[in-house]
Amino acid sequence: MGVLERLRRWGRATRPTDPEFTAAMARRWAELPETVRTPGQALGRFAVGCEGTHGVFPACDLACTPCYHSRDANRVRVDGAHTREQVDAQMSVLRRLRGPRAHAQLIGGEVTLLPPDDHAATLLIMRAHGREPMSMTHGDIDDDYLDRLVLGPDGRRRLHRVSFAGHFDSMMFGRRGIPRPPDEASLHPYRRQFVARFERLSREHGVRSFLAHNMTVTPANVSEVAEVVRAVGPMGFGMLSFQPAAYVGDDRRWHGDFRGADVGPDAVWAQIESGAGQRLDYRIVENGDVRCNRTAYGFYLGDRWYPLLDGADPRDLATRDAVFAHLSGIGFAATPVPALVVKLARVLARHPGLLAVAAGWLARTLRRVGARSLLRTVASRSWPRPVTFVMHQFMDAAAVEPAWAMMQRGETADDPRLRETQERLAACHYAMGHPDTGTLVPACVQHGVLDPAANAALRRLLPIVEARRTITGTRTEKT
Ligand code: SF4
Repeated sequence: MGVLERLRRWGRATRPTDPEFTAAMARRWAELPETVRTPGQALGRFAVGCEGTHGVFPACDLACTPCYHSRDANRVRVDGAHTREQVDAQMSVLRRLRGPRAHAQLIGGEVTLLPPDDHAATLLIMRAHGREPMSMTHGDIDDDYLDRLVLGPDGRRRLHRVSFAGHFDSMMFGRRGIPRPPDEASLHPYRRQFVARFERLSREHGVRSFLAHNMTVTPANVSEVAEVVRAVGPMGFGMLSFQPAAYVGDDRRWHGDFRGADVGPDAVWAQIESGAGQRLDYRIVENGDVRCNRTAYGFYLGDRWYPLLDGADPRDLATRDAVFAHLSGIGFAATPVPALVVKLARVLARHPGLLAVAAGWLARTLRRVGARSLLRTVASRSWPRPVTFVMHQFMDAAAVEPAWAMMQRGETADDPRLRETQERLAACHYAMGHPDTGTLVPACVQHGVLDPAANAALRRLLPIVEARRTITGTRTEKT
């Protein structure tokens, strides 16, 4: 390749805005219902939303109550070739409809039931489609598996960074060492161990990681959420996500009543706020409909969390608007540091006023942190760690099914519950691609409406022929 061509490529790679991404964002904004076009709405302004896979490896070797997978999920063979082909096809749809860049979850049953080579190949397929993948696991994993994931058969590193979401809560049964956790606190050593495995990957193989912590919330554990935030917040996860349970998936796993005032969105968010030691303003940045998602962005210094922006300060809101307007095309997670520096320099060259915006924000943030905390941080040589709090509330299949059917017919529901369901589906932040129809569906529709038939078909396509593995509440050993 000639020097000129190299320069052209470098120029393209460090472009702060990609016209295709800009066009995808404009489409996304245009498709959003009026109700969610709020000042803080990030969809269509900063990102196109989150994506996920479906119908790839539905089986899991832990037992959750509730479980969002359909009855047939554990009767489908985990098949690496099927996963790679399907994910490739699904990512093509997402790439076409949602543009060149997005975060996507490699999600099904338990991702580490995939052989490491297939898992790694699938992540690379997702990246080739411009997706930044996150593997969803129950967290009961081994160092050996992670080594074989990030290193190829030749022992050389094939993944430079990985992203995992670990699901930990006391309603999951069969975890090695603690098959029936008595409470959330008893899982803290396992949460710590999970983080430690990725710290080792960084030390020994130079592999960077981003970790999320997921927890389902029901009346059985809602009162423990605040303590989980206090204990897990400083552990090393980059995101703590809480999901109030919905009636979705296998109804044999719907143990007890999931509803009640104490597990509504306000009550769960209040628990998160209590754990974070402060009010969390989820209107500063919104991701879709706030009845589905609440998000608060900030960072830990030591064991104290600080918000990135103060919703009561107009200067901070102006900073948010400047970020939406000028930094949405950067692609922070997927861009190598040298290219990132050049991209930011090019943004500043075009909009030098951003320097003053950034300096003002930094000064206000340092004031919020306070001199004493700053001195402690400098003395202990610890760095700020970005941590995002999330609450995502899936909807019950019983509401999603009729609401979606009406939407397909172009009908708007009169019933208030179905109307709300339709509004939330129309603003969905979390989509899945269907290669057969070339369309996207919200994850609520996928899990609540489409998964049962899809998994029944998969059971015929990928029958379990050898050593049959059934989930009975105690985890079987992986082979
Ligand atoms: S998957 Fe369901 S709950 Fe989640 S954002 Fe989409 S519509 Fe809302």
